[in-house]
Amino acid sequence: MRRDWIHPRNLQEALAVRAERGAVPLSGATDLLVRHRGVAGTFPTLDAPIVWIGHLEELTAVTAGAHELRIGAAAVYTDIAAHPRTPAILRQTIAELAAPAIRNVATVGGNIGNASPAADAVCTLYALDAEVELASVTASRRVAIAELITGPGRTTIGDDELITAVYLPLGQDEFWFYRKVGTRRANALSKLALAACGRLDGRRLADIGVALGAVAPTVVRSGDLERRMRGAAPEDIAAMRNELISGYLALVNPIDDQRSTRRYRLRVTENLLTELFDRRLPFSLEGSAEHRGSRSPQR
Ligand SMILES: Cc1cc2nc3c(=O)[nH]c(=O)nc-3n(C[C@H](O)[C@H](O)[C@H](O)COP(=O)(O)OP(=O)(O)OC[C@H]3O[C@@H](n4cnc5c(N)ncnc54)[C@H](O)[C@@H]3O)c2cc1C
Repeated sequence: MRRDWIHPRNLQEALAVRAERGAVPLSGATDLLVRHRGVAGTFPTLDAPIVWIGHLEELTAVTAGAHELRIGAAAVYTDIAAHPRTPAILRQTIAELAAPAIRNVATVGGNIGNASPAADAVCTLYALDAEVELASVTASRRVAIAELITGPGRTTIGDDELITAVYLPLGQDEFWFYRKVGTRRANALSKLALAACGRLDGRRLADIGVALGAVAPTVVRSGDLERRMRGAAPEDIAAMRNELISGYLALVNPIDDQRSTRRYRLRVTENLLTELFDRRLPFSLEGSAEHRGSRSPQR
C-alpha cells in the first residue's frame, strides 16, 4: 500500500514535485479519495505520490479586479459563495452542490480537474465564459474552460501543471437562469443541469451563454446558436424558440447510467430549454429585478 503524501510549503514546491515525481494534486479530496477508495476503513491506494495543495495561500484567495473575479483553484465553495462579487448564478450553483460539509472542503479546481460531465460548477463556469489559469515550474497559461476539458475525466492539463485559478468576467450575469435536476436536494449529482446568463442592451440580448451539463461527454455550449440570439428582442426569441430548442437537442447525446436514463435526460432537457426560451428570457428582458434570477425548485 502506498502512502506517499507530500505537503509542500508553497506553490513553487508543489509545482516542483508535480514535475519531478508526477505527483497527483489533492485539494478537498471529495472526488479523488472517493474514486480510489478500497475496502471500508482502509487507506485509498494510488500509483503515484499525492501532493496536497488545499492549504496553499497562493491558491485559496478569491479576489475581484475591475473587470474580472479571480477564484483560486483551491478556494472552497463556501468561500467562493461568500465573496460579494461572485456572480449570482455561481452562488446559486454552489447552494445546490453537495451539502455544507462538502462545500467547506471541496474546491472549484477539483471540480475542473475531475472533469465529470455532471460537474455542477463546471457547467456554470462554461455559461460565464470562464478562463482557467494553469502553471508549471517554467510557465503559466490561460485557456477557455471548454478548451481544457476534452471528455469524461479527460483534460489537457499537463503532467507538470496545476490549475492555479479561474477567471470570470464580471457583469456577465445581468440575467440568469439555473436549473439542476437531481434525486434529492442535497448530496445528489446532477441528472442534468442548465445554466444560462448574459447581458442586456435595452430590451435586446447583448450577450448570452447557455450551458447544458450531464447530457454529453462534456458540457454543451453552442457558439452558433448564441450568435443567433445576440441582438434579439423578446419577440425574436419567441419566433425562433423551436429552432433554438431543436438546435440544442441536436447537440446533446445523453447516456443511461446509475443516475438517470437517456430518455429522461432528453425529455427534461427539452423541458428546461422550453422554460428558458418561453418564460425566462422574455421575463429577464422585460421584467423587474426579481425576475432576473431564478431559484431552482427540485424536480
Ligand atoms: C457526498 C458528495 C456529494 C457531491 N455532490 C456534488 C454535486 O452536487 N455536484 C458536483 O459537481 N460535485 C459533487 N461532488 C463531487 C466533488 O465534491 C466536487 O467535484 C468537488 O468540486 C471536487 O473538489 P475537491 O477539491 O474535493 O477535488 P479533489 O478530490 O481534491 O480532486 C479532484 C480531481 O481534480 C484534481 N485536482 C484538484 N485540484 C487540482 C488543481 N489545482 N490542478 C489540477 N488538478 C487538480 C485531482 O488530482 C483529482 O483528479 C460530491 C462529492 C461527494 C463526496
